Amino acid sequence: MIYIVEDEPAVRELILYTLNTAGLEAKGFEDGQNFWRGMAERTPSLVMLDIMLPGEDGFTLLKRLRSSKKTNTLPVIMLTAKGSEYDKVFGLENGADDYLVKPVGMMELVARTKALLRRASKEKDAETLVLENICVNIPGHKVTVDKEEVFLTLKEFDLLTHLVKNENTVFSREQLLRRVWGIDYVGETRTVDTHILTLRGKLGSAGELIKTVRGLGYKIGNGL
Ligand code: CA
Repeated sequence: MIYIVEDEPAVRELILYTLNTAGLEAKGFEDGQNFWRGMAERTPSLVMLDIMLPGEDGFTLLKRLRSSKKTNTLPVIMLTAKGSEYDKVFGLENGADDYLVKPVGMMELVARTKALLRRASKEKDAETLVLENICVNIPGHKVTVDKEEVFLTLKEFDLLTHLVKNENTVFSREQLLRRVWGIDYVGETRTVDTHILTLRGKLGSAGELIKTVRGLGYKIGNGL
């Protein structure tokens, strides 16, 4: 779903029509107020913002999107007026991913939208690690098991991320200390055991994926 905030009905309708024709689902809003209502209903996969709008302008909407953890990586395209270099630069500097100059060429609109959606989905994949029913969102520092959020301490999170990134690789306690804690805690390997224990507990059923390899250390995953 793509959201478009554009106050000129003719332009808004043309963009909606173009995106729909290209097989992209889209919804238009005439101002920020309606847009935020739409955002409360669902988070789209991409947003297009006109700059001159009644009420909050496009830059204000962009800043608000970027300041919220939920939408700070949401792909945004600014619709800028022809010849307005300032709008382009200001938008890009404030976190817009791309811009389109009005009047927007319809082929370009579709091409840029699809390109940005592809880029965003690739980035999203790289930022999220999935192992069985565990999902680790690295930038969001969020872990879910069966889509239920699990609350981890910073070190538990780092430990889990390191293990999941290296699925089925066995790490000794010393290696984990060095790689996760970053310091040589000689003789403090019990720290690792303690963290593994609480991590397993917090992950619930998925905790069984963390294996103790006798005489060696720990790994995550069911494979060899
Ligand atoms: Ca406008």
